[in-house]
Amino acid sequence: MLNFTVGPVMSCAEVLDIAHESTPYFRTPEFSALMKENERMFLELLHAPAGSRAVFLTASGTGAMESCVMNLLHARDRVAVVNGGSFGQRFADLCALHGLDYTEVRCRFGSALRREQLEGLEDHTALLINMHETSSGVLYDMDMVAAFCRENGLLLIVDAVSAFLAEELDMEALGAAAVMTGSQKALAVQPGVSLIALSPEGLRRVEENPEKCLYLSLKQALKNGERGQTPFTPAVTTLLQIHTRLSAIAAQGGAARERERMAALAAAFREGIKDLPFSTVSEAPSNAVTSLHPLRVPATQIVRVLKDEYGIWACPNGGELADEVFRIGHIGYITPADLQALLDALHDMDRRGLL
Ligand SMILES: *Cc1c(COP(=O)(O)O)cnc(C)c1O
Repeated sequence: MLNFTVGPVMSCAEVLDIAHESTPYFRTPEFSALMKENERMFLELLHAPAGSRAVFLTASGTGAMESCVMNLLHARDRVAVVNGGSFGQRFADLCALHGLDYTEVRCRFGSALRREQLEGLEDHTALLINMHETSSGVLYDMDMVAAFCRENGLLLIVDAVSAFLAEELDMEALGAAAVMTGSQKALAVQPGVSLIALSPEGLRRVEENPEKCLYLSLKQALKNGERGQTPFTPAVTTLLQIHTRLSAIAAQGGAARERERMAALAAAFREGIKDLPFSTVSEAPSNAVTSLHPLRVPATQIVRVLKDEYGIWACPNGGELADEVFRIGHIGYITPADLQALLDALHDMDRRGLL
């Protein structure tokens, strides 16, 4: 199967080789050294400010989102949550669940965020945002958001789960207290690990706040991370794969090269479907995904035919939009030949009257 979803995605041969081995024991100096390198490489790729730390939670990206909400925010905070789709909704749900005082900034599905929408939030103390709202494919204007937070003293917490490596992301320039991502998106390894980078300001928050949970405690993760360890048994194999990927990215020209590769795939895909009966959903498309609205047939049917008749996974949307929208991911180990196979399949479906 060719996989054009937004995660888990296809992995390169070096990563697959690691999955083939038995999981090694991890309370060893060797594994600790590898984890220290993971932390250093991740912070470097993010251009995290001096004094930042990173932790690796054995949880999907949502675990990192919840951990940040629990460890960085406090009942006295007034939180602004940008909600433009299912991942923004998840931050709102987390704030509600954890009893935080929050205000939603709603963006119509597919619409960009505008500065005017933040007006009135100057008295808030923190802002939660999914840099790329993966459900709609909208990439938010982070420079604008960061400037608003800086001018008004809001703590900025960034879910970059689907933006890390796919988009330009400079943690220091953004002034973000926390930036999170996950293993199964553009890092293109197995699911199971979420990564959180914390700036000195983020670290201070963790230190000051009361601990509310054990498994997702950032205090525990940071303390154990000082010696390259995790408090509990981690997804060791996924962490080894992350090490391989981060090392390869650093050796092959850094985050910019990865981003250019994905941008080229996204551009080639968008060019290749120009004559097909789709409209685009996102007003501010990312490099990670193209969201499409089929003009004639239900999106669910396209996803099903691609899977059953062409051996290709596209990414369905859930809920009310299931028949309206489907997505093609550009993250993961996708070759130009893979992309051509997808374009050929879509054009063949068009000829058969299936689009
Ligand atoms: C994938 C994703 C997540 C995390 O989803 P999990 O299924 O928990 O890994 C969070 N935020 C965004 C923007 C995502 O794309």
